[in-house]
Amino acid sequence: MSGAVTAAVKVGVETTELQSFERPVFGPDAGLLRVESCGVGGSDPEMYRRSTRIPAIMGHEIVGSVEAIGPAAAVRWGVTIGDRIAVHEYLPCWHCRWCLQGDFRLCVESDFFTKHEHDPLRYGTSTCTTPPHLWGGYAQMLYLAPNAVVHNVPAGMSAQLATLAIPFGNGFQWAVYDGGTQAGSNVLVIGPGQQGLGCVFAAKVAGAATVIVSGHTRDRARLDVALRIGADVAVDSETEDLRERVMHATGGAGVDVVVDTTGDRTGSVAADALALAAKGAFLNLNGLEQQVPLGEIKRKYLTIRAPRGHSYRAVEMALRTLAASHLAVKEVCSHSYGLGDVHTAIHATAGIGIPDAIHVTVDPEH
Ligand SMILES: [Zn+2]
Repeated sequence: MSGAVTAAVKVGVETTELQSFERPVFGPDAGLLRVESCGVGGSDPEMYRRSTRIPAIMGHEIVGSVEAIGPAAAVRWGVTIGDRIAVHEYLPCWHCRWCLQGDFRLCVESDFFTKHEHDPLRYGTSTCTTPPHLWGGYAQMLYLAPNAVVHNVPAGMSAQLATLAIPFGNGFQWAVYDGGTQAGSNVLVIGPGQQGLGCVFAAKVAGAATVIVSGHTRDRARLDVALRIGADVAVDSETEDLRERVMHATGGAGVDVVVDTTGDRTGSVAADALALAAKGAFLNLNGLEQQVPLGEIKRKYLTIRAPRGHSYRAVEMALRTLAASHLAVKEVCSHSYGLGDVHTAIHATAGIGIPDAIHVTVDPEH
């Protein structure tokens, strides 16, 4: 196999250029994906600003069609050439305790919170100096490593919508499988970015009675879309009293589930979550610096955890429910750019230059 593959490579802080790579030669247990669309993740702007992991092909919400595949990989994944798949960013070891019990998102080899001698391989994060180089979605092709995790894309689903499998998979993981949202639950989602919108959608799919989402004044477009994909109440926390709105919307009961998608450093999110939690509530709190008084946990009989990625079933659930949804989920996919405009696409996601971007994709054939 030969021929060049074009990829957008982060070559410096906030700097990207198109480069050409050899089409990989691979063994029977691997494959090659022709990328149709790659979502710009909520963490991409931060990674783009960092001076580490250079050079790298970023992009980790990857959807495409199988371009070439080894016979063992075809059997393992149940796919053949031309099949459309969505790919997790994780490249788990499949040997550690976490992998063996199905929580491969916590795999010791790919856990960012574990110290490693070498950066573990992960799509959209690893440097492209490691052969066969194609480790990111902002490229015409992606190397499908033997330890990759893939899902079939439902028939008829657009590639752009399918890129929501990852952020909306987070939504199912954080609001439903971890958070315990069920029929009749009152749910508060703080932050209307792509993960927050995923939580809103997942909570409504799970049967929540009341879904409340909060954001800032600049998030108006995201809050409006949230109302069309499952939120009952959208609160601008800069101009409205969040606690009053939540208590009013829940008839004074408070919320059973809180998901913070903001990475708040001020402590205000944790304080709001504690104040608004009903007895027995589950709080998914995101900031590394957040403090929660243990006494409040006991008084309200709370369960607190931090969101940490997505399981296989969460991503599968996101794909199936997005494909079948009668809600306005397509409106989440607001902007699309070609490979030459990755810089603009990442900035749009960060709210720089392009107003009202919700979920942005990079589409190599754009
Ligand atoms: Zn592992």
